[in-house]
Amino acid sequence: MGINNIVDEECWDLDDIFLEHNYSDSTVFDCIVYYLAGYIAKRLIRKTKCVQCINGLKNLNTTKFGTLAELVIAKSRGYLTHPDSNLFNILKSLEHSFNKFADELNVFDKTCEDFFKNNVHITFPCVDHRTSMLTDITVYYLVMRMRQYSYIENQNNKKLNKTKKKLSKLVNT
Ligand SMILES: [Zn+2]
Repeated sequence: MGINNIVDEECWDLDDIFLEHNYSDSTVFDCIVYYLAGYIAKRLIRKTKCVQCINGLKNLNTTKFGTLAELVIAKSRGYLTHPDSNLFNILKSLEHSFNKFADELNVFDKTCEDFFKNNVHITFPCVDHRTSMLTDITVYYLVMRMRQYSYIENQNNKKLNKTKKKLSKLVNT
């Protein structure tokens, strides 16, 4: 699974979402993160067969769509994925960290440090894949977000793999 696959995802109209909505509004913030969490969930579910991991990514109670789900419904064009609430909270917190450093050159490293420092007790329901899942969630999300700030263009896979290794150490501590 290459980082490029995430970046090159077709039917990806996140840029439009950010253009169309007032991001500083907290409801909009929640909606966007909810949408992104659903997107991340969809990507990660595709590469695992572990039922516990899937349960930790996807909201299986699909009858309970809240207002946050509206953006997902509006934007997903039938590719509906509702994130698990734990995943949603993880990404909300990650997004807050990202916002602190979005304009800085070391945005990836600084965001990760800040995020793991402020979220020492992050949980994931699957004990076997906790570290790799949390690493993937973090890397996928940040790669996606950095792309919007155009920082990703000069990154290459090698550098990201290096950071990914560093990250899994952070998750373990
Ligand atoms: Zn698992």
